[in-house]
Amino acid sequence: MGVRRTKGKRGIFGTWMDLSRARSPWVLHYDASSCNGCDIETVACMTPLYDIERFGAISIGCPKHADILLVTGTINHKSQRVLRNIYEQMTEPKVVVAIGICATSGGVFHQSYNLLGGVDKVIPVDVYISGCPPRPEAIIDAIVMGVEKLKKKGKEGSRDSVDASSG
Ligand code: SF4
Repeated sequence: MGVRRTKGKRGIFGTWMDLSRARSPWVLHYDASSCNGCDIETVACMTPLYDIERFGAISIGCPKHADILLVTGTINHKSQRVLRNIYEQMTEPKVVVAIGICATSGGVFHQSYNLLGGVDKVIPVDVYISGCPPRPEAIIDAIVMGVEKLKKKGKEGSRDSVDASSG
């Protein structure tokens, strides 16, 4: 539901948009430089086995239509440009979920010569998930948490962080 909203002019259309966005968030996955462990678990969420469509979420490929950005892997000098580009194309309100310890802090690759660290070195992160890799259930929890953040941002336009791993 990547539709631009004019701040301060919500009305019935704004309320309808907030509701439909919360009931059917569109999710975009970006692999910044993952070992594929986190990617496999993220993709598993989208299969019938774990099935994030139960929550109305669908996976899409276009940042302009995305509400929630799922990022896996550590950020390096090349992927930071791509990540920022994707983020800037997403319309407000938007939510970023850092999946796995690499996306959260750089993980075992922390302080490598060619890496910047976690996703929040480049763009704001709303929900962090620890684990190497996190289980699909934890990723689904984080997406559901992201939907709550999306609702809140839709109403208030605010941005503050939530740590999914803190329970
Ligand atoms: S957190 Fe673990 S599984 Fe995920 S990308 Fe890093 S090393 Fe791979």
